[in-house]
Amino acid sequence: MGNYQICDFCGNLSQKTNNKMCKSCEKDYHNIRSIVEVHPDTMVIDISRQTGISVSKILAFARNGFFVLKEGPMEETN
Ligand SMILES: [Zn+2]
Repeated sequence: MGNYQICDFCGNLSQKTNNKMCKSCEKDYHNIRSIVEVHPDTMVIDISRQTGISVSKILAFARNGFFVLKEGPMEETN
């Protein structure tokens, strides 16, 4: 055994995975993704509200390049 990692997203010790996230974060990630894929314009705060996942965690996924998010004021229109 000894095949463990610290999850990049929640800091919990979990079984080692390919993407450095634990099972529960992976579930969160899929939740967020399913929303973003259907409604790419959804803002972080709304995703948070719909999923119950904290804004900081959603931003952590985005920072790590798991998906692109709109952040309202920072959004560029072209
Ligand atoms: Zn985690």
